[in-house]
Amino acid sequence: MTDDLPPLRAVVAAHELSAKKTLGQNFLFDLNLTARIARAAGPLAETTIVEIGPGPGGLTRALLAEGATHVIAVERDSRCLAALEEIAAHYPGRLEIIAGDALSCDLGALVGARRPARICANLPYNIATALLTRWLESAAWPPWFDRLVLMFQKEVALRIVATPAMRADYGRLAVLANWRCATRILFDVQAAAFTPPPKVTSSVVELVPRAKPLPCDVKLLSEVTQAAFGQRRKMLRQSLKSLGVDPAALLEKVGIAPTKRAEEIDVQGFVALAQALEHFRKKT
Ligand code: SAM
Repeated sequence: MTDDLPPLRAVVAAHELSAKKTLGQNFLFDLNLTARIARAAGPLAETTIVEIGPGPGGLTRALLAEGATHVIAVERDSRCLAALEEIAAHYPGRLEIIAGDALSCDLGALVGARRPARICANLPYNIATALLTRWLESAAWPPWFDRLVLMFQKEVALRIVATPAMRADYGRLAVLANWRCATRILFDVQAAAFTPPPKVTSSVVELVPRAKPLPCDVKLLSEVTQAAFGQRRKMLRQSLKSLGVDPAALLEKVGIAPTKRAEEIDVQGFVALAQALEHFRKKT
């Protein structure tokens, strides 16, 4: 589905939106591709979508054309706002533009009571991991979003969906993401699809929040994974020393051999370690 707004290249030229590297600006002009990403976030009817970094509005237009009832688009680059206003005028009452930094926005508050709500974005790569970590560490769970459909560099996408079998990619991000969500890579996007093209292939990733993740304090899980993966080549009896409790006792309580390394422990194992850490800290 397309709209009768001007072609994106013409919009970029008219508003002089030369891409800024510091803002992670790699724009998508291919309507088939933006429609495919929008459909991956569907069905969109009666749905509120939060888009981070709409830029000149390629994905925004696809989300609206594919039927999103309401799009809240958060853009830091004020040069893009006039182009986004033109889209808002074309879809009256359906596009809300927020000028600001997504890292300091309370997206849940912007969405309010509207449900279902989800995030769909071609993320600025320089802050993509920081944004995802923030959303995954939400105090409230299940969170306000029922799905995340996000473009990352492929290397980051692999780190999100990794299991212990994928040793090089498996780390803190995979543990956090897969503890709270079911994750999968939907499809890859070649560098040539972007203007300007980045140096790497990208991937669209889907994360669906689990209704009931294994019970665990997110801060303690973060502490445990930081200690373990911070020294990933070392055995856990060594790397977990920084937690300030006896690592041998901690590992014995959860039945993990002290000679194991971080990359051999699955999400369930890390959750058990975080629960045991809470237990030991309460005792002392
Ligand atoms: N959605 C557009 C597309 O697909 O063509 C642009 C995607 S581009 C990869 C990333 C966008 O995020 C840019 O428009 C950039 O200005 C914006 N951006 C960068 N940092 C941001 C931040 N902290 N908060 C909100 N938007 C940001």
